[in-house]
Amino acid sequence: MTMDIEKLDEELESKEPQEILKRAIELFDRIAISFSGAEDVVLIDMASKIKEGMEVFTLDTGRLHPETYDFIDIVRDRYPVKLKVYFPDYSEVESLVDKKGLFSFYADGHEECCGIRKVEPLERALKDLDCWVTGQRKDSNVTRKDLPVVQRDPAHEGKVKFNPLANWSLKQVWDYIHRENVPYNKLHERGFVSIGCAPCTRAITPGEHERAGRWWWEDATKRECGIHLRK
Ligand code: SF4
Repeated sequence: MTMDIEKLDEELESKEPQEILKRAIELFDRIAISFSGAEDVVLIDMASKIKEGMEVFTLDTGRLHPETYDFIDIVRDRYPVKLKVYFPDYSEVESLVDKKGLFSFYADGHEECCGIRKVEPLERALKDLDCWVTGQRKDSNVTRKDLPVVQRDPAHEGKVKFNPLANWSLKQVWDYIHRENVPYNKLHERGFVSIGCAPCTRAITPGEHERAGRWWWEDATKRECGIHLRK
């Protein structure tokens, strides 16, 4: 589909997430929401009020918290969506663990493990899509401060990526969750803000940036799992 994405981004930049999401759903048939098992559940709530049967995918790395597994099925039961769970290639996981053990990311950095457990499954999740929707926000990471609300996906050629929450703050997300009675991951009640894999996520203290809870042993500019990075 030939589409002027920069123009579309300009048009949608100041719109509310629901309007951005509605436009994405109108424009693309082969579209899905990426769900991390955290506060990006608001996108599923919003989309369900626009269209039933929306496709949603999540990546089960095999290292998620029990609370996140519980939450994924709570969402599956609550919303009229088609929720698909993608798993990593078991032979790649076995090979990594054989060579380096179960916690190689603490010594070698997270890229190799994330590459196997997240990036490759995401490639399969996106294969038949033209467009995906993420819960990324500008204020959630120093690497995201210039995030557009819609973009040609820098990491996946030919795909369009909508980031309807780009201009929302974390507070706005949580105001929505409480106002609309949206279910949430119970880890949030224990100080977890940004939620990923159990060995790579920790609770933060008040005043710490939300991304301080992810890959805290690495430089702040490298705290992305690779699924949003240019190849
Ligand atoms: Fe592996 Fe940690 Fe990345 Fe999860 S977040 S895939 S455990 S390195």
